[in-house]
Amino acid sequence: MKFSDDIKYLKGVGPKISEKLAKADIYTLGDLLTYFPRTYLDWSVTVPIGEAPFNENVCIRAYVGSVVREHIIRKGMTTYTVDITDGRDIMSVVFFNNKYVKNMLKNGEEYLFYGKITGYGSHSKSMTSPKFSVIGEGSLKMKPIYPQTNELNSSLFEKLIKNAFENVDDIEDCLPENIRNSYCLMNYRDALYNIHFPQSYDLLSEAKRRIGFEELFLLQIGLSRLKLKALHSTSAVIRTDYTDEFLEMLPFKLTGAQKRAVGDCYNDMISGHAMNRLIQGDVGSGKTAVAAAVIYNCVKNGFQAAVMAPTEVLAQQHFKTFSSFFENTGIRIALLTGSVTPANKKIIKQKLADGEIDLLIGTHAIIQKDVIFSGLGLAVTDEQHRFGVNQRAMLGSKGVHPHIMVMSATPIPRTLSLIVYGDLDLSILDEMPAGRQKTETFLVGEDVRERAYGYVKKHLCDGYQGYIVCPLVDVDEDDDNAENEKVSSVKLFKELSDGFFKGFRLGLLYGKMKPDEKKSVMNDFADGKTDLLISTTVIEVGVDVPNAVIMVIENAESFGLSQLHQLRGRIGRGNVKSTCILVSDSKDIKTQQRLKILTSTTDGFKIADEDLRLRGPGDFIGQRQHGLPDIKSGNMLKDGETVRETHTAAESLLKNNPTLEGGEYDLIKARVNKMFSKGITLN
Ligand code: ADP
Ligand code: MG
Repeated sequence: MKFSDDIKYLKGVGPKISEKLAKADIYTLGDLLTYFPRTYLDWSVTVPIGEAPFNENVCIRAYVGSVVREHIIRKGMTTYTVDITDGRDIMSVVFFNNKYVKNMLKNGEEYLFYGKITGYGSHSKSMTSPKFSVIGEGSLKMKPIYPQTNELNSSLFEKLIKNAFENVDDIEDCLPENIRNSYCLMNYRDALYNIHFPQSYDLLSEAKRRIGFEELFLLQIGLSRLKLKALHSTSAVIRTDYTDEFLEMLPFKLTGAQKRAVGDCYNDMISGHAMNRLIQGDVGSGKTAVAAAVIYNCVKNGFQAAVMAPTEVLAQQHFKTFSSFFENTGIRIALLTGSVTPANKKIIKQKLADGEIDLLIGTHAIIQKDVIFSGLGLAVTDEQHRFGVNQRAMLGSKGVHPHIMVMSATPIPRTLSLIVYGDLDLSILDEMPAGRQKTETFLVGEDVRERAYGYVKKHLCDGYQGYIVCPLVDVDEDDDNAENEKVSSVKLFKELSDGFFKGFRLGLLYGKMKPDEKKSVMNDFADGKTDLLISTTVIEVGVDVPNAVIMVIENAESFGLSQLHQLRGRIGRGNVKSTCILVSDSKDIKTQQRLKILTSTTDGFKIADEDLRLRGPGDFIGQRQHGLPDIKSGNMLKDGETVRETHTAAESLLKNNPTLEGGEYDLIKARVNKMFSKGITLN
């Protein structure tokens, strides 16, 4: 049989099963063979009952020491309990509604039990619904466990995949031999086999490396090709440099890093090709001023510019900032967000189409179909990690190959940026504006909260402002689930207004408020009309109020490190030393260690590296965040070595052969096209 053959011809697959497989996107033998185990049961290493840790999967070798006891708990719920012993300790094993175990587990016989230990103390350990097998059943060393879907259980997958291996005779390798040799990679067939049926730990890890390598390699080929494709000629050729003129109007001097970034953009824009550049800089590094300089250049050269921000609050703030940067320049600016009245929207759209607006600022409202520019030369996306590649592309499609600039304050580990931003050129703002004071961060328990609030009060009395950030918006008083233990902004706002902060002016901000309400709360805070803002994470992006110098973050353990770092970036924006207090009562040592990292560094890249190490790449490469193709080997991204290797491999292949000529690369092309099938093709 062939890799590409319909699954329904495989032994063991009837019409019913093939229908169910289709629901899991498995149509061909190849699809089945690349349906990978979620994990493996390792029956080869056993632990004594006395030493088995709680809440981890372990394998216990023990004798059954009792008959199976049947207990009807209620209608439809029967438990089957049996005691097992390894000669030193005893524990119980419980199954629900599984009467077969009565016959399968025989008193006095020895078995392997695989599962999680629960219970309290060492004397009442138990295991619920473990997998078990009779000793000496042979081949059980590492057993693949497949994700279960549509009533297709793991053992069925195992059986079918075994069948598939026996029958398929054309497992082709998409990586040519020269690449496999250079990077010491196992061939594809062996890799597939060992992913499903590992012959040893070493072979399993070799197999995973090979599969992960291939996927990252293909991903990078695709991204590099996108980048090459973007090298279009552009209608917006910037002829004269107005940078100096702009800098003279600016109330501060650009940092060296800002100047370099502006220079990079300018070089891109005179090249005759469209710029495609990411400005990455930690919170507060001054990305807005860079954008302003570039926009000024663009508009002075006769083109329109657009700035897209992920939230209404941020769009409004940008509108204010740019309006003040461009005061008395004659540049015509408009704000377009969801909350603009239909009548005003109409006027703005008309003016835009007539070329009477030079700079349009807004939320995704500006990528709607009926928003038409007369001559868009530059499209800027702020906080780009909030948008997908597609939304970015939609903004770009509003002009004829306009220059594209994206800004992101989410520092991501450098190796990962090769992937996540593989299609962009990069300028990094690694220098803070002069006079910035480092924000000091403390981690405290809830018993110290009152003192922390006292410290906040002291700052408010001195005329400064502050934030209290809560993980929840509101909680239902009657709902007593665990979430209730977390602090909610609405509740805290009520409590503090009449309590600890009585007499101060408090504001309340959360995502679901009406845009108008949000706007007025934000404006009041920015204008110093409120002293303390109680908020959810909506303030995470972009908000800039330099007089706010103190922040308390409640239930800090609920947030990722990078997110906390973002939140903390809302303070420390002026010339006064700022303080961030993380409140957490989490007793978990790992959580405490994780949060401590924030108290010891303000380097966003370092924090991102730690986040990657501790929480994996999900936060950085979620499909939602970056619009990248889904990849199965996301975890490989933790492995900087492989990321770099695949990057080098992809670059060197494309350098010599940018269009991948030659039959030996056909499979690569096909795979990349499939990977990027949502909208992007290679030719
Ligand atoms: P971010 O990179 O987080 O978007 P902003 O662009 O909002 O940062 O800038 C943060 C603050 O720093 C703003 O108040 C801005 O006016 C100020 N700023 C930016 N560049 C400089 C500079 N070179 N010197 C002094 N202040 C600056
Ligand atoms: Mg910003």
